[in-house]
Amino acid sequence: MTELHAAPVDTDAIEKAAREFRETFGAEPEGMFSAPGRVNIIGEHVDYQQGLCLPMAISHRCFVAARRTDTGVVRMRSVQSGETVEAPVEGLEPGAVDGWASYVAGVLWALADRFEGGAPCGFDLLIDGYVPLGAGLSSSAALECAVAAAVDELCELGTSAHERIRAAIKAETEFAGAATGGLDQSASILCEEGHAILLDCRDFSTVSVPWDLAGQGLELLIIDTRAPHSLVGGEYAERRAQAEAGARTLGVESLRDVPFEGASDACQGISDPVVHKRSRHIIGEIERVREFAEILEAGSIREGLERIAELLNASHDSLRDDYEVSVPELDVAVDAAREAGAHGARMTGGGFGGSVIALVDAEMVEDVASAVQSAFAKRALAEPVFFLAAPSRGAGRDR
Ligand code: ADP
Ligand code: MG
Repeated sequence: MTELHAAPVDTDAIEKAAREFRETFGAEPEGMFSAPGRVNIIGEHVDYQQGLCLPMAISHRCFVAARRTDTGVVRMRSVQSGETVEAPVEGLEPGAVDGWASYVAGVLWALADRFEGGAPCGFDLLIDGYVPLGAGLSSSAALECAVAAAVDELCELGTSAHERIRAAIKAETEFAGAATGGLDQSASILCEEGHAILLDCRDFSTVSVPWDLAGQGLELLIIDTRAPHSLVGGEYAERRAQAEAGARTLGVESLRDVPFEGASDACQGISDPVVHKRSRHIIGEIERVREFAEILEAGSIREGLERIAELLNASHDSLRDDYEVSVPELDVAVDAAREAGAHGARMTGGGFGGSVIALVDAEMVEDVASAVQSAFAKRALAEPVFFLAAPSRGAGRDR
């Protein structure tokens, strides 16, 4: 039987993190916090052209057990890494901590100017995460956002959600030195149970839209293809440059500004065939997100299911053919899922590896997963990993 990885029950995960905290630090945690990973339902490679995307928080979360101390030192332990790392809180600067702990210390650093009268006391933080690392489900944002929630609450900083989003982004880009656009942190902090968020990358405003999969007898199956990411940096930079060339040719600041009249028509003025295809993807994808969100706002997923499936499939096909960011593993997973009866399937994330999502009737999940598994085995591809995720609540205090 194909194994489907569901997230643990929250109360069990909270108990376990509290126990690990006691064993590590020999004291009771002051509070328990968590933040979710995310998956983008639709709206890929549009963020850097001020487009729209539609992420949801997944059930897999990063849990943080925390207390303040009077040591002036932050002690960070991750169950996943098995390490404890320490750093003085006062005078934290990028480079002071590296590896996974930089995502944690980076949040303290990014929030430093919120502490009245300089740096606070110290912290003991126990991290226990269930978002798989590096699968494209944003374990890094889950970690940062859970820490931001912990520090904000315990120190009564009174930061707004948007300040915590900015702090998490700053921690990742400036302190940990990794590139991130902001979608992940926005989703991890702002998502609500049973909803997705329509995120406008022009101004980072969001609207919560109903996405009640369970109530409609549906599941979102996440397939981590485990395809090795290769050539990613250069390919991404090239796509961004091509998108900018498309906008320049059409005389707009970003492709978001192109009035939609069918993506092909809109791109007629672009003679370079590659720039044409790239622009066609972005303009079409933004329109697909808009339509997808309108369907969800208007009624139930079931009522709009046929069109929702078409939009998911069209998104993948456009990423494969026009944007050329898919790889065989992603296409094999998408094709096998569709053939086995999924209501639409698409690659999610930047591409060149990573995960596929398939919208599936709840009773069909096993069949679809095992069809994908067989398709991979037949082609001698590494075994994919399957996750079941419900649209979950954003970051916050659990106890
Ligand atoms: P993704 O966010 O898609 O999972 P990233 O490369 O952005 O992939 O982030 C993964 C990194 O985040 C890990 O290499 C590690 O440094 C850090 N990380 C995330 N969760 C944890 C955790 N529970 N314990 C330790 N480090 C973590
Ligand atoms: Mg990440």
